[in-house]
Amino acid sequence: MKILLVNPPVEDFYITGIRRQPLGLLYIASSLREAGYNPELLNCHTGKKQVVDLPSEFSYLKEYIDHPDPQIRFPFKNYTHYGMSWQEIEARIKNNPSDLYFISSLFTTYYQEAEKLISIIKKYHKNAIVAVGGYHPSLHTDYYLNKTEVDYVIKGEGEIGAVRLVQLLEKGGEPESIPGIVSAKSSDEQKISMTDAPDIKNLPFPARDLLLHRDFRAYRKNFVSMISSRGCPNRCEFCTGRTIWGNRYRSREIEDVLNEIMQCCENYGADIINFEDDNLFPTKKYAQQMLAAIIEMKEKMNFFPEFTAMNGISLENLDEEIPPLMKLAGFNELNISLVTQSAEVQSVNRRPFDSARFRSIAESAKKSGLNVRGYFILGMPGQDKKEIEDTITFMKGMKIQVFPSVFYNVFSSEREWKMQRSSAFFNESPELSRSDLIRFFNICGRDH
Ligand code: SF4
Repeated sequence: MKILLVNPPVEDFYITGIRRQPLGLLYIASSLREAGYNPELLNCHTGKKQVVDLPSEFSYLKEYIDHPDPQIRFPFKNYTHYGMSWQEIEARIKNNPSDLYFISSLFTTYYQEAEKLISIIKKYHKNAIVAVGGYHPSLHTDYYLNKTEVDYVIKGEGEIGAVRLVQLLEKGGEPESIPGIVSAKSSDEQKISMTDAPDIKNLPFPARDLLLHRDFRAYRKNFVSMISSRGCPNRCEFCTGRTIWGNRYRSREIEDVLNEIMQCCENYGADIINFEDDNLFPTKKYAQQMLAAIIEMKEKMNFFPEFTAMNGISLENLDEEIPPLMKLAGFNELNISLVTQSAEVQSVNRRPFDSARFRSIAESAKKSGLNVRGYFILGMPGQDKKEIEDTITFMKGMKIQVFPSVFYNVFSSEREWKMQRSSAFFNESPELSRSDLIRFFNICGRDH
């Protein structure tokens, strides 16, 4: 059976250049290989980019684009297609027929890109099977089954479900009998269930050999994305991580993580390794052990990759001893999110640590020579201007870089999905107008 894994391009006002490696698909690929299959990868999210017309859904932004007042001027330049052009994607799909396609549709924001890909595949290969997985289909399964030409939705982590789906398609049987593999024929109960989550201690390393050299390149360096854990033990109100990972937090053996780091350095010349974990250091002990092991490895080996944790590090079980170890291990930056300075809003949102802990770890990180990037959420329901001003003042008082994560709502109705992105300032409220949101965003941006 010929299997093609496809990572769609992305259209947005900006992207983070190093997030182009489809780690989920690479894990599925290595699991399929282990089961005896030979999948291929089409990574459409390349480093290419092309400015495209502003979609009509964003016409509400027009009055802010090039606004004469720089404080409320829309902060991004152009709406851009990041990756292979649609013409090139169409030609590649047409010329490379496969029996089964797995499509990654990670975010609600980019659902149209995944949908367009599904249409292209079905246009040229009507009888091919198309399965889609990721946060968005796991959350909005009915949409894919009823409004796209997709055959199956894989809900949750894809490794086990993908292998079982291929085996059943080959041998004959009802894929709908697999938990979390959903088609229009599935029962309501099956539509709710998730695929079986794998034991991540035993997963083969992601099949990075399917990537091209260009997929590792960003900012003139070789980047690699990896994870040491899945899930998060915390329960922050606004977080959608549970959609995929469920309620279980699982971490890998440190030795296994080190072996993967070494492989990334030796085989792919990694200059920078970005941990994509939701919660990289769940306990102080794990953080100490992991960082000590990396420091020891670096002393023995002949390579010195830099490490980043761009998703941020959750601080509930950490203290001032951790940042110096991070620096020694090769981190140059600490990304941490306060979300809000208000103790009340922290509590309502079940945040696992308070402003005092944020401050003490940020101070320790600065002393250790780490650049500190502090994040907060701008525009959460119920927030008012004073709360945002207090939060910005609190963080700026520590002389750290302040970054707003503009709130968006992945549980919104379908007609709003495209606008629910951090770059589109869509969610106005009586307390915070769009001008307010843009102004606060710009205030923070001016310092870095
Ligand atoms: S700590 Fe982060 S990953 Fe964990 S639940 Fe909260 S927001 Fe989500």
